[in-house]
Order: sequence, then C-alpha cells, then structure tokens
Amino acid sequence: MPRIALIPGDGIGKEVVREARRVLEVVSEAEKAGVACDELAYGAERFLRDGVTITDDEFAAIESEYDAVLLGALGDPRVPSNQHAKDILLGMRFRLDLYVNFRPCSLLAPELSPLSRDLSGLRLEIFRENTEGEYTGMGGSLRKHTADEVALEENIATRMGVERIVTAAFEYARAQRRTRVTLVDKSNVMRHVGGLWRRVFEEVGETFPEIERDAMYVDAMAMDLVRRPERYQVLVASNLFGDIISDLAAEITGGLGLAPSANIHPGKHALFEPVHGSAPDIAGTRTANPLGAIRCVGLLLDHLGHPEAGARVEAAAVASFQAGCRTPDLGGDASTEDVGTWIVEHLQSDYANG
Ligand code: ATP
Repeated sequence: MPRIALIPGDGIGKEVVREARRVLEVVSEAEKAGVACDELAYGAERFLRDGVTITDDEFAAIESEYDAVLLGALGDPRVPSNQHAKDILLGMRFRLDLYVNFRPCSLLAPELSPLSRDLSGLRLEIFRENTEGEYTGMGGSLRKHTADEVALEENIATRMGVERIVTAAFEYARAQRRTRVTLVDKSNVMRHVGGLWRRVFEEVGETFPEIERDAMYVDAMAMDLVRRPERYQVLVASNLFGDIISDLAAEITGGLGLAPSANIHPGKHALFEPVHGSAPDIAGTRTANPLGAIRCVGLLLDHLGHPEAGARVEAAAVASFQAGCRTPDLGGDASTEDVGTWIVEHLQSDYANG
C-alpha cells in the first residue's frame, strides 16, 4: 500500500492540503489504490514551540517509509530567517537528491491568461535543475558590513548534474510525444557553465533524433514567453533560470494559485508542492485557491502509477473552474472548502458513472 507523507506546513499550506487530502482519499477509494496518508506537523508552529525544524531520524523515516511527500507551503512572518523552510524543504531536496523540479504550466481556460491573445491549449513543461547552480550555499563574504565588503555566490554545474536533468527532459518529451525541447541559459556571458550545458544538451539531444532541439538565452526567453509562448513545449534550465521562467510561465497560464510542481529523483523519491507560498496575507480567510495543491494530487497519482486517475483529477480541476466554482483570485466568491467539495463530489459522480 503506497504511503504518503502530508506536510501541510504553514499559512494557506494547511488549508489547501486539507482539500488535496480529501481529493486523494476519494480517488484512492474509488481506484482501490489503498493510499495511506500520515500528517507530519513540521513547520513554523513546531519550530517556535520546540526549536526543532526536522531531525535526522525524521529525514530517514521520510526516505525509507514513504512513497511520496505532499507539502503545502512553509513560511511564517514570525520566523523572518525562514530557517525552518530551508531546513525542511531544501533539506529534502538535497538529502533525497530530488534533482528534477518539474513544473507543468497548462492553460485551463483561455480567460485565465493575462495575455490578450487566445492561447487555448497552451501547455509548457519546465524541467528545472534542483540541486546545483546558485542554490547550493557555496560562497561567502569578506569584510562584511564594511565599505569594502565582498560577497561570492558560486554557480555549480557538474557534468553528471546537467546530464541527468537534460536526459529527464528529453525522456519526458519522448514519453509524452512532445516534439521540441528548448534549453534556457545565458551561455553568451556565463561561458564556463553555459558551455557545459550547451555541450551536454547537444550530446544528449542527438540520442533523441525525433525531437527537435533549440537553445535560447534567458533574457530572450523571458520576452518570447510573453510574445509567443505557444512556440515552446518542454523547457530545460538551471536552478536559477528555471525558477524564474517557471514563475513567468505559471503567471501566463493563470497565476500562482493554480500551479502544481513536483520534485523528483526518478525511480526513487518524489515530493509534490503547489508553486505558491504560505501567503500569510490571506491565511485564515478561507479564500486560498486549492487548485495548485489539488493538481499536485493528479501528478502524485501519475507518479504512483495511476495516470488515468491523475487525468481525472486534472479534468475535475478544469470542470470546477468551468462550472464557476472559483476562489477570489480567479474572480469568484467560492471558499477553499467549496472548491474542494465541488471537486470531491464531481469525482464521486464521475466514478459512479464509470
Ligand atoms: P514564498 O516566498 O514562500 O514564495 P511569497 O509571499 O513570495 O511566498 P506567496 O505566499 O505565494 O508568495 O504569495 C504571493 C501572493 O499570491 C499572496 O499575497 C497571495 O495574495 C497570492 N496567492 C498565493 N497563493 C495563492 C492561492 N493559493 N490562492 C490565492 N492567492 C494566492
């Protein structure tokens, strides 16, 4: 029986995971998939109360006892250092070596895009490298708080790290019958790291001859994603560039409230989380959009080997929007729970009708 660790976390994380859990349980029951969920109370409350973020034993348990993690969000104004979020989320990314950050951005309905053109059917899938780049913490400061201060933040790229994320992007494109993979970099300026990415991209790409490949500088890509996003399909990028372009892609396909993401070590571990943060400004108002978290359930089911169930969840998310059951960020007045209930009932009748 697959076991899922639920980490609701802070702020609206708790509210959206509550709805995602209901959806997961309904589908699990209908599919007789027997998914079991354990809720783990890691987050700001515990950190403030006990001074503990996550222990080595808890990391070990997540690694050995669970098939996947579903996380809400971490971040609380009472913890300005965000120490607990770094320990828990970055800890899992690094310890479980979750090197693929997969961010699918599909436009559920044309009116959800802030772009004025009709982009119906737009689907962008971003593969962001998740363990290297500027996010390893390598670097340091010299003569801090003086006029002569020096600060360094290293950009790490290993051949192994680049090769495995580029391979994951091409393998996904092949499996999904996508016809183009685009590398996003800045190799005209960052020649050492950029040169490695370009060489590996070419070498790996040659082994997928049926898939077209091209490369774009990140600044040009930012422009093109606004100008003609329909030109792109699967994008692969370093940690920093992937972070930036995936937020842009999320925004042009409806905004933060809708976007799911997966952190994966293929064949081993996976952690799913909505792209949005803990949104303290709306926590407790019952207005958080749960669709990002519910769409994570779709990705999770796919990951557990139930792609049809995953597709049903995605279809139910689209149907809730089309039926007008929308939270305020999408122009409606439904609560977080209303959307969850609508989707649960829709799935129940969907399964009842075969
Ligand atoms: P982080 O640094 O953790 O990403 P952040 O404050 O930069 O956090 P979010 O917490 O995602 O970003 O919030 C950004 C804004 O987007 C919030 O103020 C909120 O209004 C809005 N927002 C985020 N998620 C949702 C959601 N699920 N539903 C509705 N609005 C949301």
